[in-house]
Amino acid sequence: MTSQDKDPVVVIGAGIVGVCCALYLLRDGHRVVLVDRGAPGEGTSFGNGSIITEEAVVPVQTPGVARKVPGMLADPLGPLAIRWSYLPKIAPWLVHFIRSSSPQRVEEVSVALAQLLEGSLKAYEPLVEAAGISDMIRRSGWVSVYETEAGFKSYEPMLDLQRRRGVNFEVLPAEELRQLEPSLAPIFCRGVFYPDVAHTVNNFRFVQELAAAFVRLGGEIRQQSVIGFQQGDAGVTAVVTEADTIACSGVVIAAGAWSKTLAVMLGSRLPLDTERGYHLTLPHAGADLRLPVYSTERGFVCTPLEHGLRIAGTVELGGLEAEPNWQRAEVLYRNASRWFPGLDRREESRWMGYRPSMPDSVPVIGPSPRHRNAIFAFGHGHCGLSLAARTGGLVAALLAGRDPGIDLRPYRPDRF
Ligand SMILES: Cc1cc2nc3c(=O)[nH]c(=O)nc-3n(C[C@H](O)[C@H](O)[C@H](O)COP(=O)(O)OP(=O)(O)OC[C@H]3O[C@@H](n4cnc5c(N)ncnc54)[C@H](O)[C@@H]3O)c2cc1C
Repeated sequence: MTSQDKDPVVVIGAGIVGVCCALYLLRDGHRVVLVDRGAPGEGTSFGNGSIITEEAVVPVQTPGVARKVPGMLADPLGPLAIRWSYLPKIAPWLVHFIRSSSPQRVEEVSVALAQLLEGSLKAYEPLVEAAGISDMIRRSGWVSVYETEAGFKSYEPMLDLQRRRGVNFEVLPAEELRQLEPSLAPIFCRGVFYPDVAHTVNNFRFVQELAAAFVRLGGEIRQQSVIGFQQGDAGVTAVVTEADTIACSGVVIAAGAWSKTLAVMLGSRLPLDTERGYHLTLPHAGADLRLPVYSTERGFVCTPLEHGLRIAGTVELGGLEAEPNWQRAEVLYRNASRWFPGLDRREESRWMGYRPSMPDSVPVIGPSPRHRNAIFAFGHGHCGLSLAARTGGLVAALLAGRDPGIDLRPYRPDRF
């Protein structure tokens, strides 16, 4: 029996991760059905910072993060904030998060991230070529900026970590930073330029174009909400939606921050939660930015997109239900307008999204402990756009029983 005669592989979630998995599975000759309750890319992949990076080897839980927790609770507008009302629910996640911040664990995590990030841009190549959108990726590099010498000094251990992982970067004095990005106000003492980082000119259109290519190449998209599975000794045999029962030969759980309940239905209880983030997009910003600029001190990025300036970032631990706190978007604007005085807000749009985050900053990529034909592919946190194509290649290898080429143990679902 060929892959074409078998029941399809069903991919749940048409965010950037699910769409890339679906495309890689199609390349392997499978019939593929991509199921999402909404249209492709309307989840978290709608509004990210558009950065595709191979240098994100520093986890969120850096050593000493435990000391910052009281501050996260005290300042609801800080770059990393916890909502009091959500504290009881997120407490177990926070325990894992703090445990993962020991220097030894951070080192291990950075190795795991580096191994996954390596080749993440290359993994996009066959997909963007098939979709005819290679020009949507700009390889301009990006620069992180520091307003104070103290801020830079406190990040130096993480630069050492990046050096140990072989990340390519250059520390710039203020004058060279001004030459690299003249649109910035002269308020920075240092910059760190990462030449190998890329960005898409429109991250939402990017997912839409990839999804359209998936359909052109023979894939099927169904707009339905998944509510269960049929499972037995042969593994998962069907995906149940509110409208249908879709017989399947395999299933991929790529439902981002909403994957937790689907994993529970397959017998796995995982500490997946969400780091909520915000963005503003300013179509008439008036800031003539050459490349994306990032602040570790304030936790946000400014990226030049084809439809305006994207100001995106910050972390709020507040779960999937609470209303957005739009004051956090105002803070993004205030911070960015210090960099680019006179930013024009006409016709701006604002957004909040849900990063799917594991407490150790490492995504889950691997077969469900109960069923070999159910592959988990979620928890990409701050790096979902960067890692989506790489994840798609690995998921296809797992379902085909091929050597994935890397040791997948750091990403296994049962590591907690
Ligand atoms: C402010 C911000 C900035 C960011 N910047 C960057 C960046 O610059 N670079 C980067 O690499 N990453 C960035 N990220 C992270 C990145 O956006 C995410 O990691 C990524 O979008 C996750 O993709 P996903 O496909 O896993 O999830 P999603 O895009 O959320 O897709 C999941 C999909 O599953 C669907 N779904 C859920 N449950 C069901 C169900 N039961 N039935 C059917 N469908 C279901 C949802 O409708 C959704 O479409 C940022 C995130 C935020 C919030």
